[in-house]
Amino acid sequence: MQNRLIDLASDTKSRPTEVMRAAMAAAEVGDEQAREDPTVNRLCTMVAELLGKDDAVFLPSGKMCNQVAYRVHCRPGDEIILDEWAHGVNAEAGGIAALSGANVRVLKGDRGVFDADQVRAAIRPRRPDVPRSRLVSIEQTTNRAGGAIWPLATIEAVTGVARESGLAAHMDGARLLNAQVATGVAVRDYAAPFDSVWIDLSKGLGCPVGAVLAGSTGFIEDAWRFKHQFGGAMRQAGILAAAGVYALENHVARLADDHDNAQGLARGLAAIPGINIDPEAFRTNIIFFDVSRTGLRAEELNARLVERGVRFQVLDATQMRAVTHIDVGADDIPTALAAVSAVVGAAAPAGERENRTR
Ligand SMILES: *Cc1c(COP(=O)(O)O)cnc(C)c1O
Repeated sequence: MQNRLIDLASDTKSRPTEVMRAAMAAAEVGDEQAREDPTVNRLCTMVAELLGKDDAVFLPSGKMCNQVAYRVHCRPGDEIILDEWAHGVNAEAGGIAALSGANVRVLKGDRGVFDADQVRAAIRPRRPDVPRSRLVSIEQTTNRAGGAIWPLATIEAVTGVARESGLAAHMDGARLLNAQVATGVAVRDYAAPFDSVWIDLSKGLGCPVGAVLAGSTGFIEDAWRFKHQFGGAMRQAGILAAAGVYALENHVARLADDHDNAQGLARGLAAIPGINIDPEAFRTNIIFFDVSRTGLRAEELNARLVERGVRFQVLDATQMRAVTHIDVGADDIPTALAAVSAVVGAAAPAGERENRTR
């Protein structure tokens, strides 16, 4: 038993380090919405350069990045093509409908990755009686859809089809840097075919707040209008942006540690009878596993783990997710695995334990 929670529920659970807090405290600040905050301006320049775009805008959250981008790209009645598990469809409170008045056309991807043929088939004919297909939106890496990485070739094919038909393309890059660290493909190459792309600061980068949306000069000017309209224009936000600057300089390479820890966790889980996971399927900091053969519902398993100082995320009765981040060290992985073994072992009657196959 221990007093510190090993919180694998999400990489949003990470807290700013002491050095990051010091950088925040020392930040030079100004009026952000007058574009007079030097630290925010610096962060936006860094992210625009990183992503190979003209300009960028600092927003309080990734959700607001998606919603502002959707609002810039779409008029009421337009249609956005996304994976059925996309964050914008499932976890942004119906914002696409509420704020942009847009329709969603959801595709069944392979762990969140759909292909050019699916997009071609989903694009509507140009007729006055059907919605206007306007935007293709993807997530790199895919979150709830299965933690996969979009291969560059698939991105190029999908955005190529979008462009041919006059659609814009948006990348929810909440974990885009994780993809770069896992594959070696530069984020600017992943971002190149997109009209808009953003990265989250409050996931693997370990900042407390914020995300940065990038695009062309014209796109960012439009985005500023909706930043104000949605209440995302701030004041001395350099305090927050300083965390982002610090993280981009110091926390990118270390994402590899999160990936190693997730892989160690996945391999360890695979060895626990009753838990079903294919470690080979995961390359970044998100893993999914099935607990249906443990004899415990995911909710119950998680509750028992929390008593032992470990927490995962429950997706449904049998599926769970674990996400590694800066507050989970390599030495936390065996501790977490021991807790899972203990909980699962205590739940299974001996005879059943032998009969179980994975
Ligand atoms: C977390 C997440 C978001 C939302 O980001 P916040 O900064 O938490 O608002 C959007 N898309 C994906 C894929 C995410 O994982």
